[in-house]
Amino acid sequence: MTIRFATSASLAAALALGCPPAGAGAAAAAQPVAAAVQPTAPASAAPAPAAAGVGREDMEPGVDPCVDFYRYACGGWMAHHPVPPDQRAWSRFGALTDANRTKLRDILAVDAAAAADAKAAERAGRDADQQKLGDFYATCMDEAGVEKRGVAALRPELERIAALRSAAELPALLARLHRAGVSALFRFSAAQDAKDATSVIAVVDAGGLALPDRDYYLKTDAKSAAQRAEYREHLQRMFGLLGEAPARAAADAAAVLDVETTLAKASLDRASRRDPLAVYHKLGRAELAALTPSFGWDGYLAALESPPVSSLNVAEPEFLKAVDGLLRSTGLANLQTYLRWQLLHAAAPWLPSAFVNESFAFFDKTLGGAQELRPRWKRCVEATDHALGEALGREYVARWFDPEAKRRTLALVGEVEKAMGRDIADLDWMGGETKRRAEDKLAAIANKIGYPDVWRDYSRLAVVRGDLLGNVERGEAFELARRLAKIGKPVERQEWLMTPPTVNAYYNSSMNDINIPAGILQPPFYDPARDDAPNYGAIGAVIGHEMTHGFDDRGSQFDGHGNLADWWTPADEAEFKRRTACIADEYSAFPAGGDLHVNGRLTLGENTADNGGLRVAYQAYEASRTGKPRQTLDGFTPEQRFFLGFAQIWCSNTTLEAERQNVRTNPHSPGRYRVDGTVVNMPEFQQAFQCKAGSPMAPEKRCRAW
Ligand SMILES: [Zn+2]
Repeated sequence: MTIRFATSASLAAALALGCPPAGAGAAAAAQPVAAAVQPTAPASAAPAPAAAGVGREDMEPGVDPCVDFYRYACGGWMAHHPVPPDQRAWSRFGALTDANRTKLRDILAVDAAAAADAKAAERAGRDADQQKLGDFYATCMDEAGVEKRGVAALRPELERIAALRSAAELPALLARLHRAGVSALFRFSAAQDAKDATSVIAVVDAGGLALPDRDYYLKTDAKSAAQRAEYREHLQRMFGLLGEAPARAAADAAAVLDVETTLAKASLDRASRRDPLAVYHKLGRAELAALTPSFGWDGYLAALESPPVSSLNVAEPEFLKAVDGLLRSTGLANLQTYLRWQLLHAAAPWLPSAFVNESFAFFDKTLGGAQELRPRWKRCVEATDHALGEALGREYVARWFDPEAKRRTLALVGEVEKAMGRDIADLDWMGGETKRRAEDKLAAIANKIGYPDVWRDYSRLAVVRGDLLGNVERGEAFELARRLAKIGKPVERQEWLMTPPTVNAYYNSSMNDINIPAGILQPPFYDPARDDAPNYGAIGAVIGHEMTHGFDDRGSQFDGHGNLADWWTPADEAEFKRRTACIADEYSAFPAGGDLHVNGRLTLGENTADNGGLRVAYQAYEASRTGKPRQTLDGFTPEQRFFLGFAQIWCSNTTLEAERQNVRTNPHSPGRYRVDGTVVNMPEFQQAFQCKAGSPMAPEKRCRAW
């Protein structure tokens, strides 16, 4: 139910790496702002002049901002920050993520060293979470130990799959695999009921595919067919690594492709899944049993150790029907082969290097365009963050997060919220009744900044030194159990879906809250030392983006209590759809990934949020300047600095392979369109850069929803 601001996998980011705040050097030549404000203060005591905050070195000044603003703002950055060999893409998100990861490594190195002697660590006052962090990370980093164990860690589970004697035994086995984080056949979890946000219910959803999307199995173009052929070879090699002879491995690869293709055909496409009603089908247990007569849910839920489930959301009933059909039509041997593959695929990153390298070669290199495997420490920091994210986040926040950043961000959120309120009130296309409801929803949004008020309790998660795969699987089981335990209980509104060091943010339509983790509250998104304009353009637009998600094509179907409920008058709804259709058409025309185009339907929510977010951030900035002197800094007007601050958070380079994958799977547009696709819709941008009407960044036709 979460709409992310940017998926970490798809957006990497680069300038922040150890550099001084952007524009700091240039500011020396700028007007001494502080001296003007405090003319009587002695020079030595005066605060340093505010930096313009525009990264001049990141720009490409030869480009006309009215022709291609993204290139103008980011051309220099793009030229100097090629995609590193171990990445699929590089961006300022990625660079900051990398910098945060280095900080986490430093924390974990200390934890790991201390944890080696648990008794001494306890005497030194280190707590149980720090012990777990240290044991998890040290075990992950022990590559020699992993090599020595070989596939022994996987054997017990492989033997259980091999011992399957009938379809009746499948549910219990599948529950075991699901607990270990293996997403075979379908996914099972818990979530707020879309129509009653006060209750948490079980959810069964489509799953079971190893390739990134159903399209990879179904598209008939030459490139897709070639990728499937490479996938088949990858499957063969992976089975070969398990010790299968070539002929058997080839047959097994074919069986896996068969099963996954059947599941892909029954899966909804991603754009359709964005309609919350398309993935909401609340069924009772009897209805579930009628839908899937071949699957014993009692045995499954018991083995899953789920709380009682009386009704649940079957997100895609047609998919579940297809699973049932598969169980009837596919022989047991093929199902076992498919389960063996799903287990192997999930475990591969934590097995000896032959498996790691083979998995990398296909999923990251062939499909993603990365040239090198990321260093082990990066993978281990991420695994620790995934398993024990709030324990690690607690240490990160204590060491690296300035409480002042939280206070100032909350104040900024308040300003952006006010701007959004004015924006709604001023809309000429919306009637009073709908406006009142929109304002109610806006007022109900909860704002969570930095980190959770209540930290997660990891006391039920066992971490065993020397058992990497076991630790990863126990981490998955802990997380699933934690979610399932919510069924039938009051909703935990303080919960976060991202860890504190994450360079990202999200809006959750069921909670009706925005969540801005500590990790993103740093340059280039937020910098207390620089001029206000780029801060409003960067973190201000991020906040506005998340807020607008409550009112995008999807979020607008939920009310202020987080319930799927229509609060629109028919006329206003029709006009809103006309306006968002304009945005969908605009972005669908953008070429990306070679011969592909942006999918305007898949990216509509994000693009609507980008457009509304930038507008309300701009209005908040204008309001903040009332009564203040208007200053040109480093040659840029306040408005120009605002738009440059916005554009420069999206500077990025992406491999062709990763961009093709993104176009199919990522609900966010490529960075260049997040900038150019948005500013073209703002007359304020045209004025700021004095663009001639009709120039590429100031078209006659503009789209606007919010
Ligand atoms: Zn978003």
